[in-house]
Amino acid sequence: MNLEQEIKRYSKMNGYLIATYEPINCACGGKEFNLHSDDTEGGAYAVCLECKAEHDLENSRQYIEEAIFNICHCDNDRFEIGVGKAYYDDSTDTQWVYVGASCKACELEGVYVDWQVR
Ligand SMILES: [Zn+2]
Ligand SMILES: [Zn+2]
Repeated sequence: MNLEQEIKRYSKMNGYLIATYEPINCACGGKEFNLHSDDTEGGAYAVCLECKAEHDLENSRQYIEEAIFNICHCDNDRFEIGVGKAYYDDSTDTQWVYVGASCKACELEGVYVDWQVR
């Protein structure tokens, strides 16, 4: 399974199937990130491991109150990250955002945080 498929599977179970998926890429060419998220408020940002640039995912960082530093079950903190989005019917307004991550050490994939857009 790849990360997009995993997010799709998760989003289907959640009842808001993703319409789009995009991997996070840094302007420096970096593809590995640390992932910080707030599951309660719903928000996340990623930090590029190459250049330390911070990527605000879907302008959600403003909602973060207490960020968790995400670590895989295998203790690794380097991830490839992808964002899936579900839209309202007949609309291009985002309804639900899913942030998935793929561990660079053990290849475990999962959705780390998701939220309904306010
Ligand atoms: Zn970078
Ligand atoms: Zn892992």
